[in-house]
Amino acid sequence: MKPRFLLPGFLSLLLLTGCVPLRTYTDYETTTTTVESSLSDRAVPREKPLPVHLVRVAIAVRQPSARLLVPSGASVTGVSSLNARTVEQGGHKYYSFDLTVHDLQGPAVFRSNENGDMQVNGNRYRGTLEVLDDHDGYVTVINELPMADYLMGVLAGEIPSSWPMEALKAQAVAARTFAVYKQMEARRKNLPFDLENTTQYQMYLGSRLVNQNISQAVLETRGEIMTYQDQPIMAVFHSNCGGETTGAEEVWGRPMPYLRPVDCSFDRKGKHYKWQAEMGIAEAARKLRAAHIPLYDISHIDSIRRGDGGRVLSLVLNDGNGRSQKIKGAAFRMALGPDVIRSTRFDVKLEGPKMVFTGTGWGHGVGMCQDGACGMAKAGYGAFDILRHYYYGIILDKMNSD
Ligand SMILES: [Zn+2]
Repeated sequence: MKPRFLLPGFLSLLLLTGCVPLRTYTDYETTTTTVESSLSDRAVPREKPLPVHLVRVAIAVRQPSARLLVPSGASVTGVSSLNARTVEQGGHKYYSFDLTVHDLQGPAVFRSNENGDMQVNGNRYRGTLEVLDDHDGYVTVINELPMADYLMGVLAGEIPSSWPMEALKAQAVAARTFAVYKQMEARRKNLPFDLENTTQYQMYLGSRLVNQNISQAVLETRGEIMTYQDQPIMAVFHSNCGGETTGAEEVWGRPMPYLRPVDCSFDRKGKHYKWQAEMGIAEAARKLRAAHIPLYDISHIDSIRRGDGGRVLSLVLNDGNGRSQKIKGAAFRMALGPDVIRSTRFDVKLEGPKMVFTGTGWGHGVGMCQDGACGMAKAGYGAFDILRHYYYGIILDKMNSD
């Protein structure tokens, strides 16, 4: 029998209203390939299928321990109350749990109540939190919550909530479609969660930054997803395409009919349109070696091959020992750091001991350009116009859920 108890005490409702700071949105690196393979050995059977309107998001994956802050009155199963420590925060009483695999008696499940949200790593979460034994001494924390609440957290993590409503709505539909696509994939494989809260999927920071604009965008598009040939699409997006988006095949080697290159003249005023970067040659060579590209140093660069949209497809690096290496543009960017080399739309030159880069765009460039969506909304386009521009041939469908 698993322990189950209610944390004692009553708290006044925590109000999550107020001024929300403008966020700097992050590079977005959704990939189609990397994560599922590493998860396949962690599949767990479920007793019954979970409804589509509930999303399972991993918010801490394979950690040695997890620290949760749970408001009084929350229900807890699968862990002893002896693990709890009382703490005060903002005049309210919480219970703090520091959990390792040794504390678990099966999955530990925490369910919040009207006394406030639960917290993990400083972020606030609604719904339930589940701490699972993830083998080899690690735990994974999963937040299970209604789709609408999840999408509000995604919008808060992805774009500034001060953007025009039609851009927020386009982002809400893209995020919902991507979530449903990943959810279907994960559940087919019986994985323990549908998505992670990282840029590899889509950013999700819990409920902390959700405000009125974001709620409105999610609720006004309730249930809307993009489909192509009756299937939800892999609705990837990125911060700024730098003037033209690129096809899925250029990034992931596999064409997708609705992820084609399109012109984007709406992102010029975006914060991430232009970028510059410098890196010492010795440091760059070290990073390339760490990515299994053996170069002693970099003495010159040649044969830069570009796609139609100007992105670097491949380049050849030569070192002083006469070695040369041909590298794909995307691999070069990842090796040097996607936050330094913000896109593959760049020029590079060697200046003394440094490599100097100038470029446009931030992110992989496939699907919806977020700065472009903002520009289109400011120019008077609606959410559906925006989505139809960046995702070729899609139709807007309505699900029977949030
Ligand atoms: Zn763009």
